[in-house]
Amino acid sequence: SIDERVTISAYSESKDAIRKFKFNILNDLAESLNQQSGLYLVFQPKVSLATRKIIGVEALLRWQHPTLGEVQPDDFIPMAESTSLIKLLTEFVIVRSVAEAKRLRQLGITIPVSINISANNFAERNFAEKLDHLVRDGGLLPQDIEIECLETQRILESTEALACVKALRRKGYAIALDDFGTGYSNLNYLRNIPADLIKIDRSLIENLKSDSDSRIIVESLINMLHMLNYTVLAEGVEDRETLNYLEQYQCDIIQGYFYSPPMMLEKLITLIEAEQNG
Ligand code: C2E
Ligand code: CA
Ligand code: CA
Ligand code: CA
Repeated sequence: SIDERVTISAYSESKDAIRKFKFNILNDLAESLNQQSGLYLVFQPKVSLATRKIIGVEALLRWQHPTLGEVQPDDFIPMAESTSLIKLLTEFVIVRSVAEAKRLRQLGITIPVSINISANNFAERNFAEKLDHLVRDGGLLPQDIEIECLETQRILESTEALACVKALRRKGYAIALDDFGTGYSNLNYLRNIPADLIKIDRSLIENLKSDSDSRIIVESLINMLHMLNYTVLAEGVEDRETLNYLEQYQCDIIQGYFYSPPMMLEKLITLIEAEQNG
């Protein structure tokens, strides 16, 4: 039918348009990387529930696109992942994170800076050595940088990626498993990947207030992770009530808008210095 044909052609046209759009975005991203303009990092504090002090910061990538404005990482990082651009992008994130961590140290602030690393990066040849060089060339030590592993399931499916995570941990980098409790993540995989810290995904945390089943799940999860000797962080904590539950369950660290959104390092330094001065 005509209707059908119209639908099909509209569909393939839009698929074509999407392909073109992605292609353009990736070109623009390569351009931004080349010119070192438009890409920058923001930092979100991680707060100890016991001391209420900032005990670390997570580096999060931002991209100010020349015409589209601010593009969200969830909209361009997965695209970059499907190409070799992710290598350059991650290198950019590491170099900048190291430089900013160095600045913190010069101000007497010795908290680690966490970097997000995905399965493709870990599977890259000599990635552990490359990262370690960038850290040491920047005048830092492994304890100054923490690695957040994205896509844990995919890391476990790749011998190279898993070996890389193990090598980094042996070198002294703290390893965090990101987005725990999402996708096909299962408890059994904890036995196969070495880690120091588990980040419970926001999708589990955001239901604490409204849903008693979620409270049972999160409380049991925290207890179990503690018995396995992990430090536990809850992400996406947006209000006092959620924080109170997490405190009751003896969660170690919180991160989220309730305490602070990600911000430019300047602003964060002011926050930390205010905290240190009482
Ligand atoms: P993620 O690593 O799980 O990062 C947490 C995301 O939650 C961040 O979004 C952060 O801004 C947001 N967030 C923090 N607190 C709250 C809260 O209380 N409520 C809500 N609703 N959101 C909160 P962002 O910066 O948009 O990053 C999204 C994802 O993009 C990250 O998820 C990570 O998977 C990826 N990403 C970000 N930066 C990098 C990077 O430098 N390298 C790689 N490979 N991936 C990155
Ligand atoms: Ca993360
Ligand atoms: Ca996460
Ligand atoms: Ca996430």
